[in-house]
Amino acid sequence: MAEIKEELAQIKNADGETYRDRIGIIDKKGARIWIYPKLVAGAFHHWRVIVSIILLVVLFGVPFIKVDGHPFIMLNILERKFILFGLAFWPQDFYLFALTFLSIVIFIVLFTAVFGRIWCGWACPQTIFMEMVFRKIEFWIEGDGPKQYALDQAPWNADKILKKTFKHIIFFAISWVIGNTLLAYIIGVDELFKIINDPIGMHVNGFTAMTIFSLIFYGIFSRFREQACIYVCPYGRLQSVLLDKNSIGVMYDFQRGEPRGKLKKGNTDGENLGDCIDCKLCVQVCPTGIDIRNGTQMECVNCTACMDACDSVMEKIKRPKNLIRYGSYNLISQKLPFKITPRIVLYSAVLTVLITVTSVFLFKRKDIQTTILRAKGPIFQLMENGDIRNVYTAKVLNKTFDAMQIEFKLEGVEGNIALIGTHELRLHPDELVESTFLVDIPRKSIRTMNTRIKIGVYKDGMKVSTEETSFVSPMQ
Ligand code: SF4
Ligand code: SF4
Repeated sequence: MAEIKEELAQIKNADGETYRDRIGIIDKKGARIWIYPKLVAGAFHHWRVIVSIILLVVLFGVPFIKVDGHPFIMLNILERKFILFGLAFWPQDFYLFALTFLSIVIFIVLFTAVFGRIWCGWACPQTIFMEMVFRKIEFWIEGDGPKQYALDQAPWNADKILKKTFKHIIFFAISWVIGNTLLAYIIGVDELFKIINDPIGMHVNGFTAMTIFSLIFYGIFSRFREQACIYVCPYGRLQSVLLDKNSIGVMYDFQRGEPRGKLKKGNTDGENLGDCIDCKLCVQVCPTGIDIRNGTQMECVNCTACMDACDSVMEKIKRPKNLIRYGSYNLISQKLPFKITPRIVLYSAVLTVLITVTSVFLFKRKDIQTTILRAKGPIFQLMENGDIRNVYTAKVLNKTFDAMQIEFKLEGVEGNIALIGTHELRLHPDELVESTFLVDIPRKSIRTMNTRIKIGVYKDGMKVSTEETSFVSPMQ
């Protein structure tokens, strides 16, 4: 722990301003500083535990939810098949994904501009697993932060080997469950259980994916830890452009806390000093190794641990709580209430437009997608009975989970349609079928060389759409 405090020292420039020359988990030589946060308790932690339990139940439970025998959510990137809320989506629906993705990005930008990194502390799976699952197991087996540090410094003995082995077995078991859950979101629980129950040889690829996912999660939660948030997460890296002085986040009230100074015995009022007694408990509980008293920092995941820690100190020394609290820089520095900035108005407007457009497209989305094109080859044929014949190809995609029969009918013009090679067009669930058909129209019904004709598409006798194409005929 002493090592950490030393490494968090600030440097001063010529104007007396202090800066960090490195992030909180890197020492002077560039080596990683392992963080041993102290155990924390308090109101915020209590609520985070409740929220985390709810989110974990949802995360692990969703792959088991089925609608009409199909997954409620499945993101099968391998077969390019996606099911969201029981509706099947295909690569042909990519525009919907693009619009939804864009809406989510703008929502995140807007949410972050207002609420800072609340997502990271309360809902991000990385933080929930790290702080609410793996860290808690570590506390249970190895004890509080200082005890973990002492254990790591101690020579290898039976007690250390036992604790470390036990911890890593549990870590790997949980990583295996997380890896399998991720796989269930991709291939569905039925396929996952086949991989688990069948001999490995029958599902080599699935077993390999399962092993790789488990090892990746084990590596992240046992070793990589807070570095995922600091180095890898793009959301974390974007904070500097997403936040402004109005954004709400975990803030130290420097107006109230400074000048900081130790409490002297018998002087609980801390004469001429601010409320911060420089106990550094807020630093010791921080899982990303920073001192929030230095202001908003890239590494802060808004986990609220420092808020709980400082509240417990304030309670002990009988001063008001909330020295570290949710607030904006403007609120702390100038007591300015939250303000709706032009940036927020702009993001909200763009988001509203995107959500509206996405909803309209989603509402108009059809269960069957049909593309009719003129076939290659002769542009028309003159039939003995005087009809003119054109040949077409149709691609029909069944986006539903039910089999269906498709028919084509000419609309607004006399004539016949006949499928080639089959007398009916049947589609299995999720099937894309390509078919060729003939359109014969009496010459008297055609007035131009290139006529736009309409073909009605019928599913099990019910019309679902009208497709337009061109019908070519000889000069009149
Ligand atoms: S826990 Fe509170 S009193 Fe202690 S150092 Fe941090 S801000 Fe100051
Ligand atoms: S500064 Fe506070 S809120 Fe931010 S990561 Fe550290 S303990 Fe959590």
